[in-house]
Amino acid sequence: MKESRGEFGLIRQIQQETSVSAEGVILGIGDDGAVLEVPAGQLLVAATDTLNAGIHFPDDTAPFDIGYKCLAVNLSDLAAMGAMPRWALLSLSLPDADSTWLQSFTAGFRSLAKLWNVSLVGGDTTSGPLAVSVTALGTVKPGLQMLRSGARAGDLVVVSGTVGGAARVLDLLQAGEAAAEQHLLDRPLPRIKLGQVISAYASACIDISDGLIADLGHILQASGCAARINTEALPASVVLDGLEDGQKWGYQLAGGDDYELLFTLPPRYEAMLADWSKDLELKLSVIGEVQQGEGIKCTATDGTLFQPQRPGFDHFGKS
Ligand code: ADP
Ligand code: MG
Repeated sequence: MKESRGEFGLIRQIQQETSVSAEGVILGIGDDGAVLEVPAGQLLVAATDTLNAGIHFPDDTAPFDIGYKCLAVNLSDLAAMGAMPRWALLSLSLPDADSTWLQSFTAGFRSLAKLWNVSLVGGDTTSGPLAVSVTALGTVKPGLQMLRSGARAGDLVVVSGTVGGAARVLDLLQAGEAAAEQHLLDRPLPRIKLGQVISAYASACIDISDGLIADLGHILQASGCAARINTEALPASVVLDGLEDGQKWGYQLAGGDDYELLFTLPPRYEAMLADWSKDLELKLSVIGEVQQGEGIKCTATDGTLFQPQRPGFDHFGKS
């Protein structure tokens, strides 16, 4: 695309390259604000997340992956709320007006937007260090929104897919193991269908972005409960094959960036897990139980206590 690479050229490029057919857009990109129609009888759910170069992704990350990830992390938040994604806003801070970079970025963004018919309806484009912020908007039927605060003693703790893989791949890449690069293609798939299916049954839900223990901790704190986790029930990514138990559990409990859903389920619904898993072709593992009290106790099947060394990711944490 050869034309003046001013702000408006970039915006036009973004608009053209991300366009998907979507409903409810009365007015999209091009005015001072978007005008959207929330379907009658539904609630609007909004989530936003920022990715900074060098912090949330390595500086040399392919623009396709940045475009994919900035939408994926936000759709994952909507999934955890039980919401159906509909629209998104994109704030881009770019060091320069590189249309080739942008084309790859929008291809990554669009590959996921197309899957869920998410329409990009606005945003902001500025010059500065590379940073990408997306706001995702979705809808949910009143009463079906899943909160962090609904877990009760006796509920099962369930996790989708596998955990620990993203953190392990990052460690392998940082150690210079080029073979791990193939796993970069395992891009997280926001568990939107799962969120829809469990929303009428789960007592609490969160997506795993900072690590299982850290994110389960958020549910427990909001719900005023404790939990026991069986480390041997944790579903392992194939990239953890061959690690000794302690190392493997460390990745599974504290590794971030997997974007699986972690939810609590009243035990009377336990039999439904097998059906959901089959219908969605997605592993669903019962990894423990909500209890009275506070804190999280991780034990192996024989009762041995396991204490992960890294609690999880905290931007303002000291470790
Ligand atoms: P304003 O100055 O009124 O905020 P802008 O000039 O920043 O408007 O943006 C013009 C239009 O382009 C607006 O509709 C805005 O939402 C949209 N826009 C700007 N940057 C982006 C972007 N990165 N992605 C999507 N839409 C964008
Ligand atoms: Mg603006």
